[in-house]
Amino acid sequence: MTDGVNLNGQEQLDFMVTRTDPGVRAIRSALEDYRREFDEGVESLEVYAAIMEVQRKAQGRIKRRHRMGEDEAREKLKGGIPLLEPDWYHGIESDIYLEMVRSIFSILGEKSLQDLELPDVDEWEVLSEGALENTLSRVLRGEPVSLGGGEGQRYQENISEILWEALVPFASRYDSILQEKIEQPSWQKGTCPVCGSLPLMGKIRSSDGLRLLECSLCRCLWMFPRIGCTYCGNREQKTIHYLYLGEERTRRVNICEKCSKYVKTTDERERAKDLILPLENIATMYLDQMAKDQGYNPGNVKSG
Ligand SMILES: [Zn+2]
Ligand SMILES: [Zn+2]
Repeated sequence: MTDGVNLNGQEQLDFMVTRTDPGVRAIRSALEDYRREFDEGVESLEVYAAIMEVQRKAQGRIKRRHRMGEDEAREKLKGGIPLLEPDWYHGIESDIYLEMVRSIFSILGEKSLQDLELPDVDEWEVLSEGALENTLSRVLRGEPVSLGGGEGQRYQENISEILWEALVPFASRYDSILQEKIEQPSWQKGTCPVCGSLPLMGKIRSSDGLRLLECSLCRCLWMFPRIGCTYCGNREQKTIHYLYLGEERTRRVNICEKCSKYVKTTDERERAKDLILPLENIATMYLDQMAKDQGYNPGNVKSG
């Protein structure tokens, strides 16, 4: 049985919710590695690496942090409640948020994945002072955001994803919570213990072989059993399978036959460097295609 770690056992006590925060140098170096590995198709990786850089830059300017005492945090996790309040995004610094949206559009324009002029996002009703909170709540719930007719129409296609990415630096301002050294005693969910979002993908950590999932929004990492569906909670070994491409065994898709959903996992143990999962997620889009071709659905918003 390779059930990762017994969550009710002694091993759990040392585990903490951690956050990934690769620096610009690590992002660029990872991009170089992918360029060497893949002959083609690195454009999307370049775009996302650039987005990660602006997210990181914005993070340093965001003053409002999510704060919480150790006891409160522990109580919440025990009760299966994510640490951030459901309305954590209320009152975020909207000037920095709009700047993020603009920067992401400009990256998409520069890398010319799309023939887009930089939109005048300050004019958009959905991002106006009075509408922003409602818009963000739609984005977080995975509901469509409509830019209305006219000019906005041209930007409709990727708007939800862009608004999501612009929110990432705000969601990840919770370092003060993590400084409290929170263990992850009873969190067995497939959703993020910090913000409640779905996982982007997972990895088998090189240092200890644990399976960790990375949040698609706040970038925290949490432990999840190796045999287990992150979506429906299924733990039956006979209905959980892996898909691989060819001989490559370090990258796989965890498939659940019960709910027909999947999540990707890359084994970090045979790699020279720590994985940067948001980039790895894009580098392994071929696995998403393979899983979808076989009738499985991504549970997360990012690969959909
Ligand atoms: Zn999260
Ligand atoms: Zn399932």
